[in-house]
Amino acid sequence: MQEVLLIQQVNPTGGLFVSFGGDDEAYKGKFQAGCRKAGIKINELTSEEALKIEPNLNSNIESAFEVDDGVVDPFMLTVANAYAARENKAEIETYSRVVKIAGRELSYLNDNKKKKIKADIIVNATGVWAGKTAKLVGREIKVKAYKGTILVYQGRAVERVVNHLHFPSQGDIILPHRNTTLVGTTNIPEKNLERFNIEKEEVDFLKEEGFAKVPLLRKRVLLRAYAGLRPVVGEISTRSFVLSDDGNFITISGGKLTTYRLMAEKVGNLVARKLGVRAKCRTAEENIIGDVKPTKLKKIFKKDYERIFRRYGNLSGKLSAYSSRNKRICLCEGVTSNEILFASKELFCKNLRDIRRRTRFGMGFCQGRRCTFEAALTLFSENIINSEEAQLQIINSLEERWKGIVPVIEDYMSEAKLLEATYSCTGNYNMVKNIIRR
Ligand SMILES: Cc1cc2nc3c(=O)[nH]c(=O)nc-3n(C[C@H](O)[C@H](O)[C@H](O)COP(=O)(O)OP(=O)(O)OC[C@H]3O[C@@H](n4cnc5c(N)ncnc54)[C@H](O)[C@@H]3O)c2cc1C
Repeated sequence: MQEVLLIQQVNPTGGLFVSFGGDDEAYKGKFQAGCRKAGIKINELTSEEALKIEPNLNSNIESAFEVDDGVVDPFMLTVANAYAARENKAEIETYSRVVKIAGRELSYLNDNKKKKIKADIIVNATGVWAGKTAKLVGREIKVKAYKGTILVYQGRAVERVVNHLHFPSQGDIILPHRNTTLVGTTNIPEKNLERFNIEKEEVDFLKEEGFAKVPLLRKRVLLRAYAGLRPVVGEISTRSFVLSDDGNFITISGGKLTTYRLMAEKVGNLVARKLGVRAKCRTAEENIIGDVKPTKLKKIFKKDYERIFRRYGNLSGKLSAYSSRNKRICLCEGVTSNEILFASKELFCKNLRDIRRRTRFGMGFCQGRRCTFEAALTLFSENIINSEEAQLQIINSLEERWKGIVPVIEDYMSEAKLLEATYSCTGNYNMVKNIIRR
């Protein structure tokens, strides 16, 4: 937890493990013993105490334990790592796929252009694709993929990470993230690594699990669903990671996001040893990027300074160079034009979809129906993209938003139809698409 607090992209919300009437009572003792063994501090609460801090929970609480916990913004955490690496002379190329490895030479496609690079050591950290990548050098690495789906509800229905206190299963977790509540997750073996669907059964299951724990969610708007693949080595219950050392080809696979810094430390130390570097990895002791005092941002960003710091952490200092452009672009998430420009120029963005993941424009209630156009206009006005590029990016961005809305629209068909009409009819974008692609 101490190391976690070094990372500004983690919001230490605290957490609760809660069981409800009908749950297996014997699990409580196992949970307490497990926490004792792992040295995890827990604080038992009465159901009244639990409801006082989380009033939207189902009042049918049997047992509740307070724990240290937090919520991470995985997009900005990844960007902060990449930014820090670049400050330390790393070169980063997004949208690149390694297609061939011959000795020290790697061939890859970058935006469909073929490129080559030479490396003394190659690290394979390609998640569920680690087995496929290892095949390029004739090695066999066994990694299984498990799909996880998450529902996104409008507004915060809880303030802490709420876990179901029962034998770990699916639909166990509800957590606050920015202006939304996430309900997760499923855990389903998946063979197709390139294209997988969010099934209606998954959405229905997660909705029911969410309603059972937090009845208020029935009244909240379900904004969208998204899914990802977990890389699993060995048994799914352990979520351990494996470091394989094959000469100049190292593979790190499995684990979880919570273990990523430890995994990176092991890889860093192994690479250093192979290269004859005597330094030791300092990732557990240092902030990812510098140290910015939030109150210093108050002068620059006025009332927005807290939101800016929560969003960009220590990168907020770098955003100040763009502070003169402060037109509000996204009303749901409060994103301003300076953030769009900063992300576009400095945070490894190639398109509006990338910018959305860094800034959160289009991730709120309206799902980008207005701000997508505003963001494209901001880039166009600064000559970052031309008009044709702006239109293609708008289309791609809205298509991606729509993909996450479709699995959950059943109950909100009228709202969805209004969204579709706005996406398609503003500027006749459905027609423009055909003209541009012709
Ligand atoms: C729904 C869900 C919920 C989760 N919740 C949690 C949680 O609460 N706590 C937690 O700790 N963990 C959680 N996880 C697990 C965690 O997200 C994963 O363990 C973690 O993201 C894996 O990171 P990774 O870098 O190994 O793989 P990835 O994040 O998949 O990254 C692999 C990268 O390799 C790239 N790649 C693949 N092939 C190539 C190639 N040939 N050339 C170049 N690049 C390539 C891919 O494009 C990708 O960017 C969750 C996962 C899911 C799906």
